[in-house]
Parts: sequence; C-alpha cells; structure tokens
Amino acid sequence: MLLSSRVKKLSPYVPGEQPKDRLYIKLNANENPYPPSPAVQKAVLDFVKNHPEKLALYPDPDSLELHAAIAEMLNKSGGVLCRAKCNGAEVAPAEQDKIPFTVTPDMIYTGNGSDEVLSMVFYAFFDSSKSFVMPQFTYSFYPVYAGYYDIPMDNVPLKEDWTLDKDEMLRRASKNAGGIIFANPNAPTGLGLTRDEVREMLKKASSDEIFIVDEAYVDFGGESCIPLLAEFKNLVIVRTFSKSLCGAGQRLGYLVSNPDLVNTITTVKNCVNHFPIDAVAQVSGTAACRDVAYYVDASRKVAEERDKFYNFLKNNGFYVLKSQTNFLFAKHPSISGEDLYQKVKAQGLLIRHFATKGIEDFVRITVGTPEQMSELKKAFEKLLSC
Ligand code: PMP
Repeated sequence: MLLSSRVKKLSPYVPGEQPKDRLYIKLNANENPYPPSPAVQKAVLDFVKNHPEKLALYPDPDSLELHAAIAEMLNKSGGVLCRAKCNGAEVAPAEQDKIPFTVTPDMIYTGNGSDEVLSMVFYAFFDSSKSFVMPQFTYSFYPVYAGYYDIPMDNVPLKEDWTLDKDEMLRRASKNAGGIIFANPNAPTGLGLTRDEVREMLKKASSDEIFIVDEAYVDFGGESCIPLLAEFKNLVIVRTFSKSLCGAGQRLGYLVSNPDLVNTITTVKNCVNHFPIDAVAQVSGTAACRDVAYYVDASRKVAEERDKFYNFLKNNGFYVLKSQTNFLFAKHPSISGEDLYQKVKAQGLLIRHFATKGIEDFVRITVGTPEQMSELKKAFEKLLSC
C-alpha cells in the first residue's frame, strides 16, 4: 500500500485564505498591519550584504543570541507590550506586569512559528493514553495536532458569555489526568483570564500534569502568566513573533518555561529538525527584541484602533465581544456570518468566517491600520444600508 494508515486519518489546519484573484485588504489572519521596525530591516540587509557566506553555513542550532534577546525583551516589557511604559527607546514594564524574577535565556525555546513550538509541545507533554483538556472554541490547530499525534482530547464548552469554564476544565482535567491547554486571551473570542484566575486554576490542577497557556495575543492587552513560572513547574507559556512583533513572515515562535522543560522540548526538536530557525530569522528576531519601543508603539496603535472599531460595531447593532487581542469577534442580528464575509469580500476586504457549528453566525475581524479600518467601515455601512 502506498500510504501509511496514519496519513489517511489526517485532517489538516485551514489558515486564513490568501486569494490571488485581486488585491484585498487582508483582515483575516490576525497579522500585524505594520512592517517590522527599521532596525530589523537594516539588520537583515546588513547581514545578507556583509555576511553572505553565513547563508552557506548551518545556523546556530540553539539560537543562543536570539534566546538572550527574547529574555531581555520580556524583562524590559513585562510581556505585555501595549501597556509597557515607554520613554523614547527606554521601555519599562507597567506596574501590573512586573516579573518578580529575571527571565533567563535557558527558559526560552524557539521554533519555526509558534505552530511548530505547539507541535513539539503536544508531542512532548500529551499522551495517547490520556485525554488532554481544551476549550471547545479555541485555536483550531490544537485538534489538528491531537489528530496528528493520536492524542485524545476533551473539549469543554465555553460559558454562555463566551468565557472559559474554568471549573469544568479543572474537573475534567482531574478526571483525565492528561494536561490542559488554552489560549489566553482566547481565539477566536478575544477574551482573556486574569493572571489571578490562571493562578487559581494552577493551584487546583495537579502539579504532575502539564498546563499550557498560549499567549499569542497577550501583548495587545491581556495579562501574561510569565510571573507565575516561579510558582509552577508544570507551566509552559507559548508566544509568537507573528502578532505584536510584526513578523508573521519570518516564522518565529517561542516558549517560556523552566529550564528542565525547555531541555525536554529541545530534545524533541533535535529528533525532528536540528535547525528550525534559519540564519536570517535569527538576525531579524534578535533585532526586533532589541527595538522593543517600536513594537510597544505598534501594539498601542492596534489596540486603539480595535477599541474604536468595537464602538463602531456596537453602534451599528452588532453583538461584539470586548477583545484584548488584535481582532474582534462579532455577529449581526440579521445578517449571517457567511453573508457578512462574502459581501465584504466582494468589496475587496477579507475577514474570517468559520463554518463551525456554534460560532457560524460570527465573523472574526483582524484590526488593521486606521486607513484599512476606515475602508472596512465603509464596506459595512454599505451593506448595512441595503
Ligand atoms: N496560537 C494562536 C492562538 C494563534 O491564533 C496562532 C496563529 N493563528 C498561533 C498560535 C500560531 O502563530 P504562528 O505559528 O504564526 O506563531
């Protein structure tokens, strides 16, 4: 037989579309509308110009400089960029985000996008013999990894207000003994738990089971759980350069945890791909972390635009959740999610619609620049007036 029995069961992830039939304003994949900082652009150009020979050599398999730069950025910003204090190039954490210890490079692991980091995490910490717990509506790649690695999952419905049902998640976790994963803030809802709420969950969860928090969107206004790493050895935090660090194209994601778990993940990585971070991404990622002020500014601009668009949607009769991310999750009382998506697409803008039972009435709108959002407003106004 040509195909393995494993491959026949695969059900791949479906990313936001990238149609080529015309130029669209792309508000469907939660990318950042701003380019990487000028310092990143310069670092990449200088690297390629001055060290072309390095492109012929394998990159550092341990990305040591990049890990040091990420640790430094987290210590400087407190891990929530849109709230960090910023005075010129000087950045300091907001009071509520101060990390009560120093994040060190051995607490960092990097991968080819946080999708790849998550894949390693699923392989390393979840098992075929026990179900792991996740919310029913969360990042839709988690079930894909579960299928890929043959790990049973236990989906816990969200509460009526679309927040996570913490008690039920804990109850099922204690029954299954297979660990927990959720995004905080969650996707596609945009709603987050506070650090205290996560701390309470961690206290009640078994310290022998893994507890994974995906903080892909935390820089736009959530609360990071990095400060909890000192208290909980089973906590793993996954983060990305694709959202607040304007770097979806360079494929960089990372994980913050205690050095023992980081070592475990590194072992898994070295059994799959020794060099997941190419030489250029190591340079661009390091430069991004060293120019935190630029990204603080970009995150603030996105958060401001998000809140303006939230008001626009509310004032126009939409039901919309109060997002802590770079996207809004909204539905209209009389226009279906599919219709909203199609009619906006016909006007040259892409937003995301999930044909998934339970959320099929909603659309997820990525927050763009003020100019892009003004185009989206016009498109919505036009279809609402019909
Ligand atoms: N986690 C969440 C919650 C996401 O929404 C995404 C991106 N869609 C990712 C992780 C993966 O991001 P990346 O692979 O670009 O780092």
